[in-house]
Amino acid sequence: MFERICLVHYHEVGLKGRNRASFEHRLLSNMEAALVAFDTKEICRISGHLLVVFENAEDLEPAAQILLQVPGVARVSRGWRCARDPEEYNLCAELAMVDCGEFESFKVVARRSNTDYPIDSMQLNQLVGAHLCAFAPDKKVKMKDPDVKVHVEIIQGSAYVFSRSDRGIGGLPVGSAGKVVSLMSGGIDSPVATWKLMKRGAVVVGVHFSGAPVTDDASEYIVDDLAQALAPAGGIGRIYTVPFGEYQKAIASACPPNLRIVLYRRLMFRVAQGIARIEKAKALVTGESLGQVASQTLENIAAVNAVVDLPVLRPLIGSDKLEIIDVAKQLGTFEISSRPADDCCTLFMPRSPETHARISDCEEAEALVPIETWVTEILDNLAYRDYPCPAYKAPRTMRGGEG
Ligand code: ATP
Ligand code: MG
Repeated sequence: MFERICLVHYHEVGLKGRNRASFEHRLLSNMEAALVAFDTKEICRISGHLLVVFENAEDLEPAAQILLQVPGVARVSRGWRCARDPEEYNLCAELAMVDCGEFESFKVVARRSNTDYPIDSMQLNQLVGAHLCAFAPDKKVKMKDPDVKVHVEIIQGSAYVFSRSDRGIGGLPVGSAGKVVSLMSGGIDSPVATWKLMKRGAVVVGVHFSGAPVTDDASEYIVDDLAQALAPAGGIGRIYTVPFGEYQKAIASACPPNLRIVLYRRLMFRVAQGIARIEKAKALVTGESLGQVASQTLENIAAVNAVVDLPVLRPLIGSDKLEIIDVAKQLGTFEISSRPADDCCTLFMPRSPETHARISDCEEAEALVPIETWVTEILDNLAYRDYPCPAYKAPRTMRGGEG
């Protein structure tokens, strides 16, 4: 019986020396979570790869498409598992060739991982090669840069045959780089920034400031949909939602209009840092890109950074809007972010926002409102939603300690 399989290849994971086993283990459990909707027979490590065996052949392709988006996955090959019997793997090699559609040249790449099998790699290459030449006499064997490589690997008690293979997103498995708190506005940039951190192995806790109760809660649904779109990456553990409208209203009525945006942001950062303390997260993340809008000048970035001690990661700081949009389209977040919604950013916008905010001016303005009381009030009333992420560990208590 031939079983349908995906072989998952990774490279950076393999580079981590002594950590290798724990990295593989993380990748494996992240893959399991990503494939929960599919009927899988087996997900395990075999000889430098991770193997997924499917119950149903029709699951193979949709599952492969998801695996390609899991951080740490460098490549996904689709193929067959069969007995170590030349009749069986020759037949699978035929199927693998047909699987590649139209092409001109090919070669066989054979590997034998255990020496208890009497046919070595060279002999395997010749054996399967000769069989495929007879099967498809119109195809040319080409050793250098063939169109198709038919892989035949003898690993433990089975043969694995595959030809079709695509590059995954690479990066590191979620859970190998600690936890971050990402400010998710519902706009185009922050989901891309969030994804970049997941791709480098971080577990993400999102925080969204909505305009509620002054606006409706449309932006909260958008952020939830964004989290669902990013689900294959498997890195979002939880998203906190903060109704922010009343605080903005109070800032707007008490503080100089030109400083509003920077003041909103400074309050958001204080809350985000409070959440990071509760979650034991080690950094904040934003989707800012230098100079993109008035609030994203170096002076304003410094004025906002001044209220937190944690590192603030801005993975898009050097990206153009169009580059960001390209990634957002690939991730499937662009459409969702483009839906109209009044988030808190659109509320109480000043006519001419300050582009060079001075920290002392911000502090003077904040003396007019009870900032610290607000932060405590917000942190005492946090609402959140959890998402599937095996590497996420929820805080045991909702009280933030130091560090
Ligand atoms: P985005 O497309 O991510 O909304 P933007 O280009 O609209 O970004 P800003 O509105 O200045 O830029 O926001 C810059 C960053 O500040 C966002 O990427 C996000 O990280 C954070 N941010 C802004 N508004 C919110 C919000 N309502 N909730 C959470 N984070 C926010
Ligand atoms: Mg925005």
